[in-house]
Amino acid sequence: MRDGLLAPRGELGDIEVVSNVLLLQGTGGTVLVDTAAGGLEGHWDGATSNLREALAPFCRIEDIDAVVLTHLDFDHFGGAGDIPAERVFVTATAAAAARTWGADGDLSALFARLDGRLVEVADGVEVVPGVRLVEAPGHRAGHAVVEVDGSDGRRVFLADVIHHPAHVQHPEWDREFDSDAEAALRTRRDWLERLAGTGVPCAASHIDGWGTIEPGGDGLGWRPL
Ligand SMILES: [Zn+2]
Repeated sequence: MRDGLLAPRGELGDIEVVSNVLLLQGTGGTVLVDTAAGGLEGHWDGATSNLREALAPFCRIEDIDAVVLTHLDFDHFGGAGDIPAERVFVTATAAAAARTWGADGDLSALFARLDGRLVEVADGVEVVPGVRLVEAPGHRAGHAVVEVDGSDGRRVFLADVIHHPAHVQHPEWDREFDSDAEAALRTRRDWLERLAGTGVPCAASHIDGWGTIEPGGDGLGWRPL
């Protein structure tokens, strides 16, 4: 990762960035949130995608009933075309925005492969029991957070609302990745405030592991779980 993109130059040093997926198994069936880059891994220098191996202890990709896409960036949707799930959910806003970007070959190929299986939903819709796709715009139009109400309580997958634990304390860092930086900053502050002190376990696409948002003396902080 080049420095100066996620933080003021030199602040974070050289870091590795993960692209997480979230596997949910419960009354709603087997649900995969995001799919990593899949065959599009070459879009990032040095990136590798290992979805099938990562899921192997839990399920085969053929067992996935539904896929939920937080937004339509290659590192989130790239693996979706290889998953034969009956339904692939995305917000209608994200899908509409992606269509207006238009001629991107990867997206056209994705829409073609998902023909008849892509389900475009309104903001806040419960896509399967206990799993809600809530728009959190800015990173991309229609970018969404996934709220999960499971047997072990509430969890939130923040997707690309934050890209690094440092953004919890410094939400103003890291503007270059967002299509609409002002909206993304409002969204980021809003979600961090909402989650602060609740103890709700949170995950984000490009942060390793779960954490909670904790109030502290010099602003909010990420506490790894
Ligand atoms: Zn991302």
